[in-house]
Amino acid sequence: MSCHRPDATTDATTTALLDHNPATLMQPRQPEMPPKAMRNGGRVKANNVAPQGVYLPNYNILTPHMRSPEYVQMSTAAAITLGIMTGKMYRCACTRCLNLLLSYPEGCRANCAYCGLARHREAERDYADRNFIRVDWPAVPLEKVIDKVAADGAASPFHRMCISMITHPRSDDDTVTVLKQWTDRISPETIPVSILSNPTTMVRDDVQRLHELGADIFTVALDAATPEIFDRTRGKGVQSPHSWAKYWEILRDARDIFGPQKFGAHIIVGMGETEHDVLTLVQQLVDMGGHSHMFCFFPEKGSLMDHLPATPRDQWRRVQLARYLIDYRGVRVDQMKFDGEGRVSDFGIAQGELDDVINAGVAFRTSGCPGKFAEDISACDRPYGDSPPSNIASFPFPPNKGDVRKIRRQLRIIEQKN
Ligand code: SF4
Repeated sequence: MSCHRPDATTDATTTALLDHNPATLMQPRQPEMPPKAMRNGGRVKANNVAPQGVYLPNYNILTPHMRSPEYVQMSTAAAITLGIMTGKMYRCACTRCLNLLLSYPEGCRANCAYCGLARHREAERDYADRNFIRVDWPAVPLEKVIDKVAADGAASPFHRMCISMITHPRSDDDTVTVLKQWTDRISPETIPVSILSNPTTMVRDDVQRLHELGADIFTVALDAATPEIFDRTRGKGVQSPHSWAKYWEILRDARDIFGPQKFGAHIIVGMGETEHDVLTLVQQLVDMGGHSHMFCFFPEKGSLMDHLPATPRDQWRRVQLARYLIDYRGVRVDQMKFDGEGRVSDFGIAQGELDDVINAGVAFRTSGCPGKFAEDISACDRPYGDSPPSNIASFPFPPNKGDVRKIRRQLRIIEQKN
């Protein structure tokens, strides 16, 4: 495998030459402190505009005063699928996962460097107007969401619902309320529920309660692959409250309470870790009985890392492929080989077998909690959440032959003909 080597003076302007994002490059900006009147949703609370049904971000009106559990936000893809917004998605008819994001004027109280929802944006943009994983998140009354999904019953396009917590003092209780209101009307057998947790405000009993109320899968957004990157991007490095130890404590609670195959961790690839780092973590999660859900780093507009390069496709494809082999094909990280900079140089299986996995394309689809198609196909397809459609990182649909040819070029793996 041919690789370009970065030198010690690497910066964002030289990244066209790189085939991976090195640690020296991936440094967030320092957050600025917003003026006092803008903090804690000050502008929205001072205006105190009453919400009237669905709120579409950037609507050129004052952002209404909306709060969970009465209001939740959902991805643009989910809003289109639900018929709340009009629009078309490139090569996707719908999304299979309804992500419900808790919403408050105060927003998320954390400051994660890669995230569009982070606290440091208080002066620039009200919470309900912030972009997150590259898209807008319309706010919708929870009752309206539940009415619509319940009316569709088993014919619903959604294979899963996911409650996405944020760092807010109300987040734990409101997650319970949203889950109860949902399961009162919609059976978890028809549409299973995942929890994307916020460990910082949680204790073991919270995890237990969500399990007892019918949640199916519990995930922890570690996001960073190493403790150093965690601290730099979502801990002390950016005046954010999260700690690696607390995230692992709740992840272990989830393992104990939800059981094998029913818990997982989100990991963002390309924030300065090596491929060996991230795949060692993937193996650790599999050994615990869980799964990894991967995201390709993308410089989210307005975030503290928006000046940095997206993960080069070759790095991302190697990690996607290796992670799929570890998660679903029983290959172990110690069977794989890595070069001096921690990059995968051998996937640990025979070329013919590797060709079959690449050609099947599933390894390159969005990873996340499963839907109704297969265990290794995520309901959570997050269309274009980690890349533009022009250079897809996670495929929200089955890659076709042309896509696979492009993936092979990115991997620099030529198919061996018999
Ligand atoms: S806790 Fe989650 S929502 Fe809040 S800033 Fe961090 S990544 Fe974003």
